[in-house]
Amino acid sequence: MSASPVISSEKTALRPGEGGGADLHLHTLFSDGTFTPEELAERGGRLGLVAMALTDHDSIEGCARMGRACEGLGIEFISGAELTAEYEGREVHLLGYFLEVEHPRLLGEMGKFQAVRKDRVREMAARLNKLGIPLRAETVFELANCHSPGRPHVGRALVLEGLCASVDEAFEKYLKKGRPAWVPKYKISSDAAIALIHEAHGLAVLAHPALNHCDQIIPTLAGQGLDGLECFHTRHTGAMPEYYLQMAARLNLAVTGGSDCHGYSKGKPLIGGVRLPARYVDKLKDARRNRASQPQPAAKAT
Ligand code: AMP
Ligand code: ZN
Ligand code: FE
Ligand code: FE
Repeated sequence: MSASPVISSEKTALRPGEGGGADLHLHTLFSDGTFTPEELAERGGRLGLVAMALTDHDSIEGCARMGRACEGLGIEFISGAELTAEYEGREVHLLGYFLEVEHPRLLGEMGKFQAVRKDRVREMAARLNKLGIPLRAETVFELANCHSPGRPHVGRALVLEGLCASVDEAFEKYLKKGRPAWVPKYKISSDAAIALIHEAHGLAVLAHPALNHCDQIIPTLAGQGLDGLECFHTRHTGAMPEYYLQMAARLNLAVTGGSDCHGYSKGKPLIGGVRLPARYVDKLKDARRNRASQPQPAAKAT
């Protein structure tokens, strides 16, 4: 694969006549986004997107609904999820694409990640209580109303209860790394995450590498079976997309991109702000076919 000509400093490499492009990194209220799958699909339709992928944190529950909504709008849908993983202590986010949403082991593992997330919310509430902040974990769970609660839900609950003025303030004072209610998140090892994604017939893509400062380990992840690199992302600015396109070409990785829209969770909805040209979606589907034709490695315990 050779790097396609891109306009550096652009988050998209759409050529004239290439249509509306794809947004392959989106969250709904099945994790910490604020849109339903139907709202997200409808917005994508209005923006003229030709393909969308749902990548909720540790959840594939919204995929069936989003798939139906996209189908009704003539938008290609790719099922997905975002897993928090680590390699030698370095956090990386892995996107699984084309995941089989009824896959028993994938559902079992997601259930474990979700249970750990709930314990983490309880621990954050306990730490807040020690600081004299009377937030109940149950309040967070009621507000989140999903199986994959996280810090944004804790932040929103603090605002709802009048204990913080804004979610930003909640992160600044209590929830961000190093603050008193910060609790580290469980991370599956990168090789186990990639193997799990493959077992569920998906492709494993490294999300927003620039955000995790993990460029040095990308070749190692490629050796573990990584299939693609998210070159285009809202926070990949300036020459970053081009830099990652070249790296993807060198390592023979597929190219993806998406906005990482969380709805109104963090300011304005980002959906459609990153548009992956359809030719990369086609290449991603080729990569899926190539992987499907390879023998499956034996399943690993995590
Ligand atoms: P968690 O997965 O529970 O650790 O939460 C991570 C999520 O919190 C990510 O989606 C972050 O983008 C989000 N986040 C980080 N800082 C903030 C902030 N200041 N306001 C809202 N969300 C944030
Ligand atoms: Zn999120
Ligand atoms: Fe992420
Ligand atoms: Fe994300």
